[in-house]
Amino acid sequence: MSIDLLIKNAMIPKGDMTVKVDILVDKGIIVGFMEQAQIEAREIIDACEKLVIPGCIDSHTHINDPGFTHRENFLTGTSAAASGGVTTIIDMPCCSVPSVRSVDNLEYKLSQIADKAIVDYGMWGGVTGEDVRNNWLHNVKEQADYGVCAFKVYMTPSVPTYPRVTDPEMLEAFKSVAATGLPIGIHAENYAMCDFYVQKLKNEGRLDGPAWAEARLELAEKVAIELGISFAEFTGARLHIVHMSTGIGAVLVKNAKMRGLDVTSETCPHYLTINYQDAMSKYESFAKIAPPLRTVKDNEMLWQGVADGSVDFIATDHAPYEISTEKCAEGMNIWNSFPGIPGVETMVPVIVSEGYNKGKISLSRMVEILCKNPAIHYGLYPKKGAMDIGSDADFTIIDLDKEWTIEQEKMYTMAKYTPLHGMKLKGKPVKTIVRGSLVYEDGKGIIAKPGYGRFVKRQTISKLPRQIKF
Ligand SMILES: [Zn+2]
Repeated sequence: MSIDLLIKNAMIPKGDMTVKVDILVDKGIIVGFMEQAQIEAREIIDACEKLVIPGCIDSHTHINDPGFTHRENFLTGTSAAASGGVTTIIDMPCCSVPSVRSVDNLEYKLSQIADKAIVDYGMWGGVTGEDVRNNWLHNVKEQADYGVCAFKVYMTPSVPTYPRVTDPEMLEAFKSVAATGLPIGIHAENYAMCDFYVQKLKNEGRLDGPAWAEARLELAEKVAIELGISFAEFTGARLHIVHMSTGIGAVLVKNAKMRGLDVTSETCPHYLTINYQDAMSKYESFAKIAPPLRTVKDNEMLWQGVADGSVDFIATDHAPYEISTEKCAEGMNIWNSFPGIPGVETMVPVIVSEGYNKGKISLSRMVEILCKNPAIHYGLYPKKGAMDIGSDADFTIIDLDKEWTIEQEKMYTMAKYTPLHGMKLKGKPVKTIVRGSLVYEDGKGIIAKPGYGRFVKRQTISKLPRQIKF
């Protein structure tokens, strides 16, 4: 018997401990685990007793292809993913032309990116205020049947081709998505409040970086999450709070979970590690995102939420913009520069370094929030997010001791900026394997050919078990 790939000397998680095994891979699938395997393999990768976890998933990216490829295309975006130890992304429906709100538009997007991807990719479906007003909600079921993982709505204006929902439009969207059994992710900020306070601070002549965060106040996220929870309770929809930025958000989600509601949340590495006062003073528009960075207290409360199960998993909201035209063009300021930062390649190392290596989360929790939970939530498990016989042979190999510094100019994304620039980390993904092929190796760079990454349809409808610790 001969197999395609043998990964030797892998330290794989077993609860919060690790055990040393060799992993057998054939035809892109895990086919066995052995101690000191004596088996013929066409390729051998020596993990050198480094930590090997299921391939990490970033379930919240905006790759901007097709349509805005001056910001990012599927080759650069998925190269960034591979270099950061991410083996699967799930891409948002809003940042392409046309935006994805129907099967036709989804198929067009897939046709435009098919020969570019380095890692695998699932897709979010879309529903907007315009779809509700025009009675286009039949598109929701059609996208669900096609295999999208979830649906996204925006409570605030974001992308011109993807109109926001008013409150009653959001309620109608919740009803339609509830019927599919898929999660509905909301960008949770109250539009009227953000709009009013942005105008107010502008009129006061504020042009400093932190003004952006002060205008889009914490309360705007709080009341938006509360509305979402009310709508979820009324419609039975599976509410998911994307890029949750506030500590109070984690408390609201926790309470909703304890009441038995189907409410989940994600937060992003930047909401866990940096605050608006420091980062927006230093990086100004390069730290401008929506919702904005918050306070040190929010960082701490979100870590607590990640540890106790209020926050179900980590994603990045990877949203790159072109520096010369969209971040600091002539005449641009903190109010009219575009809100968004790249993040897909810094997620895993930041969580390893600042979470696991600093003792904020256990090994088993790290595997849940980077691998298992997004896979379950979006119906990809156990094909993705698992290290079982029969799962896709996706692995992130991590050197837990490697000390290095995030340098924005070295990133694979087209957008060479990040407010995490200069952050010193301990721990780095050193090899990324997708369906049994090494796609990235530290020191060598991207190894896979563009087009290796495949579209992965939702496999099933599955829900996360409630993980709240009482
Ligand atoms: Zn987003």
